[in-house]
Amino acid sequence: MDSTKVGTFEHVPESVPSILHVKGHQDDAKPYDELNLEAQLNIDADQLADDWLQAHPNFDHSKVPILPTSGCQINLPYGTFTHNIKHELKLARSVPDNAAFLMDKYEWDQEIFDDIDWTCHGRALNRTKAHQTSMIKYLIGWHPVGTRVNKYDPKYPIACASCGYHEEDKDHVMSCPKRQTDRDNWKKAIKQYLDKHNTHPSLHATITSALNTLLDDGDIESIEHNADIQDIIDSQHNIGWEHIFKGRFSKLWAQNQDQHLKDNNLKTPRKNGQSWLTGLIHEMQCTTVVGPLGSPE
Ligand SMILES: [Zn+2]
Repeated sequence: MDSTKVGTFEHVPESVPSILHVKGHQDDAKPYDELNLEAQLNIDADQLADDWLQAHPNFDHSKVPILPTSGCQINLPYGTFTHNIKHELKLARSVPDNAAFLMDKYEWDQEIFDDIDWTCHGRALNRTKAHQTSMIKYLIGWHPVGTRVNKYDPKYPIACASCGYHEEDKDHVMSCPKRQTDRDNWKKAIKQYLDKHNTHPSLHATITSALNTLLDDGDIESIEHNADIQDIIDSQHNIGWEHIFKGRFSKLWAQNQDQHLKDNNLKTPRKNGQSWLTGLIHEMQCTTVVGPLGSPE
């Protein structure tokens, strides 16, 4: 078979093209105009890829076309895996984290499911290498709280180890009176993130209010918001506010922040709505799972 006509890569020759490694994001240290051509092209390519992703939020880019020189590749329900194969296979075997499972569990219809910014969610998860197993268990509601571990082995206490409350369940982990300082520190970390990353004032106020409301077991109807982001509020309301702890935000958050950065001439190839949301999710997931609120393994 003529390998130049394999799959969609009809123009890729069988021989391996020469590959040059170019250090990424060099514009962090030097203005774009002062960089050499390779570094500039690298930044341009990043920008083009980001623009395309933003313009096609519903495109499934999890499956990568196979390159003729690869021979074979692994496609799992979550997408193509090109590295860390052993680790990814282990995760895939133990985690039924797919659309149908989540839609059934949280009673989302397809429209609500598609409103969630899974791209940013996935990118944030990829950043959390060290505690990924704990994280994924947390994300699907399997993290080791008393009520769960006691079910498997009665030698583990069902009560909260911090305050002695008779039943440590997922809700208690978030509201345990002995973990108030941890929660305050966590809120402070999120606020710092929002301050540092030029967050749109209405988004900032709403996220802050939502965290306070959720952690204080308040009425979600009382979450503060401005009328200019009513569409975001409605969309997040359908997904469920508690899901922001797990990094499941409506796509509208990133779109709105992106526009805000553009309007204020703050948007750069690396600083955009999606990078803002990815960073925020990372901050929330990390501190929730491996930080003060969670129970790392
Ligand atoms: Zn407790």
